[in-house]
Amino acid sequence: MKLSHVNKTFGSNTVLKDINLDFPKGKVTVLVGPSGSGKSTILRSLNLLETPEAGTYEFDDIKIDFAAGVKKDDLFNIRKKTGMVFQSYNLFPHLTVLQNIIEGPTQVLKQDKATAEKYAHELLEKVGLADKADAYPSELSGGQAQRVAIARSLAMKPEYILLDEPTSALDPELELGVLKVLLQIASEHQSMVVVTHNMAFAKKVADKIVFVEDGNILYEGDSETFFSKDNGNERIQKFISAMT
Ligand code: ADP
Ligand code: MG
Repeated sequence: MKLSHVNKTFGSNTVLKDINLDFPKGKVTVLVGPSGSGKSTILRSLNLLETPEAGTYEFDDIKIDFAAGVKKDDLFNIRKKTGMVFQSYNLFPHLTVLQNIIEGPTQVLKQDKATAEKYAHELLEKVGLADKADAYPSELSGGQAQRVAIARSLAMKPEYILLDEPTSALDPELELGVLKVLLQIASEHQSMVVVTHNMAFAKKVADKIVFVEDGNILYEGDSETFFSKDNGNERIQKFISAMT
């Protein structure tokens, strides 16, 4: 998955400035940087929730030239290959946990109900919520709801899971449960792109770390170098020490 020369503006505000970035398969790419730097816009472009004006997006055999517009087929296929997990869970309130998880697989992927339910139960086990299948979202804590949202995303078997500050709405105690689940999934080589402000988590989970500021990429590489004192970049050192 790769963006090349991507530009995105909102009105007169250019928020992505000639972004070149690849997201290695089977790895975790973490996007960090100050608020308003363009992290969410990058993530949303990967799911085509935002459409940049210029640049290309390559994903397996799909190649999108943003200047020429996004074809319907490409949109459908990219959406199938990517699963977005939002800060605010977005579970269907009138459906149980199990029903939330099988909704996509049965409606979109046309899986039969028994198959979808079997996999949903496995995923609930994985996220530590085997006993919550019949609960409604209103009966869950924020941390539990987010773990259901992660299970729901995994149920679609996307190639990449995209997570936009998945724990920033949670108390530290609940955050921990969600981060543990993400670390587990990462260890199984699920391709992921995560935006986070949690530097300890970023350090632990990232195979690749990207520092975004003002629509530019200031650093792209391994997390060891990024977090080391001699990364040679004063701006990044300042950011890290402010965040930790
Ligand atoms: P981050 O996720 O790093 O905080 P964003 O990608 O959300 O940053 O935003 C980058 C810039 O784009 C910000 O200046 C923000 O105000 C602007 N922006 C984001 N979405 C919109 C939108 N839908 N309309 C107008 N401006 C937007
Ligand atoms: Mg954001």
